Amino acid sequence: MAVPQNRVTRSKRNMRRAHDALVAESSNECPNCGELKRPHHVCGACGHYGGREVVAMVEDVDLDDEA
Ligand SMILES: [Zn+2]
Repeated sequence: MAVPQNRVTRSKRNMRRAHDALVAESSNECPNCGELKRPHHVCGACGHYGGREVVAMVEDVDLDDEA
């Protein structure tokens, strides 16, 4: 098994970890339905992108229906 040749100091370890912070995911408002969506992605609520519907949405499926 590979073994580190030299000890990594607290300073070098922390310098490496300086870039490890998590960043919040950005979001835009959908121009069609107003729902928050990821930029440059199809809206998950209405299936619109670039001013037209590109993914057909199923109307209100009830998964709890025991019929
Ligand atoms: Zn939408």
